[in-house]
Amino acid sequence: MSEAASTRDSAPTRPAPPDVDRQAASQAAVAARRARAAVKASIASREVSPLVVLDRATADPDGVEGRLRVTEFLLSVPAIGTTKMQEALDRLAISPAKRLGGLGRHQRLRLRQYLIERENRSARQRTRLVVLAGPTAVGKGTVSTYIREHYPDVLLSVSATTRAPRPGEVDGVNYYFVDDAEFDRMIDAGELLEHATVHNAYRYGTPRAPIEKALAAGRSVLLEIDLQGARQVRESMPEARLIFLLPPTWEELVRRLIGRGTEDAAEQQRRLETAKVELAAQDEFDYKVVNHDVAEAAREVVDLMKVRAAPARP
Ligand code: 5GP
Repeated sequence: MSEAASTRDSAPTRPAPPDVDRQAASQAAVAARRARAAVKASIASREVSPLVVLDRATADPDGVEGRLRVTEFLLSVPAIGTTKMQEALDRLAISPAKRLGGLGRHQRLRLRQYLIERENRSARQRTRLVVLAGPTAVGKGTVSTYIREHYPDVLLSVSATTRAPRPGEVDGVNYYFVDDAEFDRMIDAGELLEHATVHNAYRYGTPRAPIEKALAAGRSVLLEIDLQGARQVRESMPEARLIFLLPPTWEELVRRLIGRGTEDAAEQQRRLETAKVELAAQDEFDYKVVNHDVAEAAREVVDLMKVRAAPARP
């Protein structure tokens, strides 16, 4: 690496090196470029923390990491694009021409602090978005209402739906009740994080903006949505933690569905069929919580918001 660097940096007045030296130098330059590309790829894939790369650059300014341009370095950090990179360099008062190994002490400390703040922020976001799903009538709504009332730090996302309000439901609290045209507009404008037609009837969707705002402010966010929505969130926000709420037994689920008396017999039958399909998806989730008791299940869900790392998904 340093061979390549010294070749590039040598004074133009020196006599041209013999051919074999030039070949060796160009091979070394290719190897150095490859090594830098590998470092960037490992930052991008989160194999290596940018902080570790910065520390290596400091320890060996002429090594692979030390020769990385600060622009290439920042662009390889996940979620930093050209605009964010330029803003960061302005804010940190670092010239884009600099290499990591050539940063002054204060520049290095400012860059380090910037990277630490980013890591903390993304760790918070990783652990704080929780999706609660589960079969129909398992008590997701009751558990999430309990969380809203007893854990005010947790933001319970308010979904948009095309179904009509039930008695006692309040617009903006239980749901945003919208018509089909407004729901279509929200989809087209990219305002929904996920959306689905549930029980072959009405459409439901999660507004994106309040969630992003709450996560950025360090709040925990709970989404109580159906299985299709949970799968979409897993795709678009892999850092979300997925919890599946289970009934103590199948018989108990049937009893709860019939007992609540909000659906007629045909609808109950349809929902029981859906529940069987939904129960079969439980292994796709990071955690399972059994709803024996609402307060206990709510506490378990809130506790899972605090756990630092989600287990690896199959
Ligand atoms: P209900 O009409 O009984 O309030 O809710 C019916 C179903 O819609 C529940 O399974 C609930 O989890 C789901 N649901 C509520 N809001 C959303 C949402 O924003 N997205 C999705 N995908 N499902 C939702």
